[in-house]
Amino acid sequence: MDCCKYKRVMLKLSGEALSGENGFGIDFDVAQRISTEIKELVEMGIEVGAVVGAGNIWRGRNGEGSMDRTTADYMGMLATCINALALQDSLESIGVKTRVQTAIEMKEVAEPFIRRRAMRHLEKGRVVIFAAGTGNPYFSTDTTAALRAAEIEADVILLAKKVDGVYNKDPKKYDDAIKYDKLSYINVLEQGLQVMDSTAASLCMDNNIPILVFALDEPGNIKRAITGENIGTLVSK
Ligand code: UDP
Repeated sequence: MDCCKYKRVMLKLSGEALSGENGFGIDFDVAQRISTEIKELVEMGIEVGAVVGAGNIWRGRNGEGSMDRTTADYMGMLATCINALALQDSLESIGVKTRVQTAIEMKEVAEPFIRRRAMRHLEKGRVVIFAAGTGNPYFSTDTTAALRAAEIEADVILLAKKVDGVYNKDPKKYDDAIKYDKLSYINVLEQGLQVMDSTAASLCMDNNIPILVFALDEPGNIKRAITGENIGTLVSK
C-alpha cells in the first residue's frame, strides 16, 4: 500500500455526477467511467465506500412551497437508492464486487445498513454503496458521507465535484477567483465556503475526517487523489 496516501476512502458522488451533460437522470457512459476509476482503486487494494446523492432526480428542496418537507426529503432519500442501484449495476458489469446498504430498510432490494457488516465487506474488497442517506429528513447526503466515514473509520472523504477545488468566489463568474490548496474546517465554516453544508462540515471537524474536494470530470482524478498528488483542495484540521 506504499502507493497510496489513504487505505480506506469514502467517495461522495453527487446525484449530478451520474447525470452527464443534461443534469437529469442517469448517463450510463458517465456511470461506466466513474466505475472504471473506482475499479482501479479496488485493484490497488484501496477499500472503497461510496455515498451517492440524488440531485439528478429529486432534492427535498424541490418540493419547497408545495410539499411537506419531511415527505419531500423521504423522496430524496428514495431517489438515492435508484442512483445506488445504477452505480452497483455499472460496477458489477465490469467485475467489481459490491454491496448496497440502505438506511431505510428495503430488504428485497438491498441490505440494511449494518456497520460491522459494512466493515467486513470493505475488508473483503467489496465496494459498499450507502444509500437512503442517513434515513432522516432534514439531512443531506454530504452529512451521510461524513457520518458513514466516521462509522467505517475512513481515512478521507473524497468529495467529487464539478469544480476542481474550493475557491474564494465562484470561478465560473469571476476570473480572479483564487483556488485554495488547503483549508481548515473553521475557515470553511466561518467563511461559508461552498464545500459541504455546515452540518456535514461540523461532523468532519469534530471527528477529524479530512475532506479532499476535487473535479470528477477530469479522468484519472480519483486515482490522483488517492496517490496523494496535489489536486483539489484538502480541508483538514
Ligand atoms: N436526504 C435526506 N436525508 C439524508 C440524506 C438525503 O432527507 O440523510 C434527502 C434530501 O431531501 C436531499 C435529497 O435526499 O435533498 C438528496 O440528497 P442531496 O441533496 O444531498 O443530493 P446531492 O446534492 O448530493 O445530489
